[in-house]
Amino acid sequence: MKVAASLLPAFLILAVLLFSGCQENPPVSKSDFYLDTVCTVTIYETNTSLSAEEKNRLIDRAFTILGETEEDMSSHLEGSDVARINEASGKKTVSISPRTMEVIRNGLHYSELSGGAFDITIGPLVSAWDIGGENPRIPSQKELQELLPLIDYRKVVIKGDQDSAGGSVFLPQKEMAIDLGGIAKGYAADRTAEMLIESGVSRAIIDYGGNILTIGNRPGDNPWRIGIQDPASERGEYLGILQITEEAVVTSGIYERYFEKDGKRYHHILNPKTGRPARNGLQSVTVVSKKAIEADALSTALFVMGPEKGVEHAAGLQGVEAAFVTTSGKVILTPGLKERFEIKSEDYN
Ligand code: AMP
Ligand code: MG
Repeated sequence: MKVAASLLPAFLILAVLLFSGCQENPPVSKSDFYLDTVCTVTIYETNTSLSAEEKNRLIDRAFTILGETEEDMSSHLEGSDVARINEASGKKTVSISPRTMEVIRNGLHYSELSGGAFDITIGPLVSAWDIGGENPRIPSQKELQELLPLIDYRKVVIKGDQDSAGGSVFLPQKEMAIDLGGIAKGYAADRTAEMLIESGVSRAIIDYGGNILTIGNRPGDNPWRIGIQDPASERGEYLGILQITEEAVVTSGIYERYFEKDGKRYHHILNPKTGRPARNGLQSVTVVSKKAIEADALSTALFVMGPEKGVEHAAGLQGVEAAFVTTSGKVILTPGLKERFEIKSEDYN
């Protein structure tokens, strides 16, 4: 009793400070639709005092980055770098922006690193299935057999050295097509963080369709607590909470984009070897790393690899942690996540 009583005033002061702090500087948050998903930026704190209006303007600059990324890299936007590369496949080399070049280079790197589980030339399969598009369908086995030889990142010809402005890309086979849907959101998140940090933002959360990148720590200097979606439940229901500091957390899962036919679910993460949605006992893979582009590419790659190969591959990667959620309700964590992941749902262990 005595202890509690003596603590009371301090607690009250703290509560008031927190409360008045919240009143003066509430976080500024805005969402918009880019890259086929909802993108949200929330600014909690800045190094110099900025008005809410100035913070809003910074978020608008984030949306400009997203708009540029879409204009460069969306495969279904006429005139984008990716659309032009795909249209010219088997015919000619196409000049592209330094931004698209950077993402393609990264995409090829993770294609190589994952032994082709991630493959940026997945385009023909993405179009054939059109999952999340207007006419999703199940392609015939014959159609898939014809498309599979087109999927091979090793055939992509790129010109222009690492530091040069832009460069050019050639897809040597007609009907080959690049798709950057598995990596572009992460790239946009990294660019946004750079811009916000340069502008003096010290605490923020960037959330581009579940690709989360944080700046600084949570106000109060505690780690951020990020809810990991329960892949089997409604959106917003978490299977667990992950603690992170200044890192990216990206999840690839069967619940993000899919269609159902005859009681069977067909989701958007395709296995380049079979041409079909990866069905390997996983419901989702969450990757934690410093860069969102890396976490984005790897979450897709590890999902395709499946629980055994994926866990083994993740363990060999420096600075990368991962959580694998299986269809039987098991959550497999890499060692670095064991202390930081708290399971909240009784359906998982
Ligand atoms: P994510 O939501 O980041 O896991 O990415 C899924 C998106 O990446 C899909 O909607 C496709 O556009 C693309 N994609 C699907 N399968 C693959 C794959 N095996 N390798 C690379 N990109 C893929
Ligand atoms: Mg991804």
